[in-house]
Amino acid sequence: MLKVLKFGGTSVGTLERIQNVANIIKKIKDEGHDVIAVVSAMSGETNKLLEYAHSFSKTPNPCEVDMLLSSGERVTSALLSIALNEQGYSTTSMSGREAGIITDSLHTKARIEDIDPSNLKKAISDGKIVIVAGFQGVTQDTNRVSTLGRGGSDLTAVAIAGVIEADVCEIYTDVDGIYTTDPRIEPKAKKLDKISYDEMLELASLGAKVLQNRSVEMAKKLNVNLISRSSFTPEVEGTLITKEENIMEKAIVSGIALDRDQIRVGMYGVIDRPGIASTIFTALADANINVDMIVQTRGGDGKTDLDFTIPRGDWEACKKVMARFKEEAEKIDYNDTICKVSIVGVGMKTHTGVASKAFSTLANENINIRIISTSEIKISMIIEEKYAELAVRALHSAYNLDK
Ligand code: ASP
Ligand code: MG
Repeated sequence: MLKVLKFGGTSVGTLERIQNVANIIKKIKDEGHDVIAVVSAMSGETNKLLEYAHSFSKTPNPCEVDMLLSSGERVTSALLSIALNEQGYSTTSMSGREAGIITDSLHTKARIEDIDPSNLKKAISDGKIVIVAGFQGVTQDTNRVSTLGRGGSDLTAVAIAGVIEADVCEIYTDVDGIYTTDPRIEPKAKKLDKISYDEMLELASLGAKVLQNRSVEMAKKLNVNLISRSSFTPEVEGTLITKEENIMEKAIVSGIALDRDQIRVGMYGVIDRPGIASTIFTALADANINVDMIVQTRGGDGKTDLDFTIPRGDWEACKKVMARFKEEAEKIDYNDTICKVSIVGVGMKTHTGVASKAFSTLANENINIRIISTSEIKISMIIEEKYAELAVRALHSAYNLDK
């Protein structure tokens, strides 16, 4: 098999850990597989380099920032290559440029436009283990080094796996897979064997931050089988993230996610005229504010109430936009003591009663639901933050996820 392996910052965080990663790669190579390993910078390194840049300038030139940040991944790729070489393995490290990763010119958040896999293919056919510096490429127009945005090494690995049609892309982090919910909240959480791309995207965007979202989207697009597993317990199988069709036994509910990063905006007594929602939400969109859940309730005498949620980080920007609608509403307020609990599962498409079970479970715990939204594979509910853990545990057991 041809395997692309990706090792995150924690997995290569010290010299001993780099040696540990070399041992994992060695074992896979000895089993007869071809290996391309993509590495992150040692944990904390990218932040440290960014701080260095900011010690000289509040607004460092993004092009120079990329030159700086890309060095972190090059360090680990070279060290890993040297470690494997010392054990008698034929290896070569490659920068993003050498690996053929071509990007647009949006420095510090570049998008991969193309991959020229010729160097990679040549090295593999020569029997080498290839170690690629993740998170970086070269700009098509200006021929400069670029980086792909924070967490971008996952993207490097998935894109390479897609283009060279690897059999699998294994993402090694410090957790051994995707769980039915956060084990720190519910110790009875179980590791999933398989999960579909869409479920993973929902769980990830809801706060289960094991894989970078863009990389899961890319895996879906390029049809790459992803495995989430740990470099600290490489003997544990991990979770396969794949096409829904590849999952025979579809769980009705696969997981419960918790997002504490939302705040609720309430607009009361808004003049109910055609186009009002459009005006408000266009203004928010223009300010790049990601509105998530929206409810509109009918008030009396031509007035309506609007409730919606936004990421906490957009709060200040949202206040500025809301100031423009002072005349349109009787009152505008903010609630930052809420959270969003979500139930995710592809089996919901074909089963009824999933939502009602969620509502009755929370009702039994005396938890009031402020906003509800649903999609084909997800039910989200806004509740008071103080009930977050209770709600997650109650729902986890209501759907038998601990069994
Ligand atoms: N080193 C980069 C970061 O910290 C890329 C990565 O780790 O994937 O964001
Ligand atoms: Mg990372």
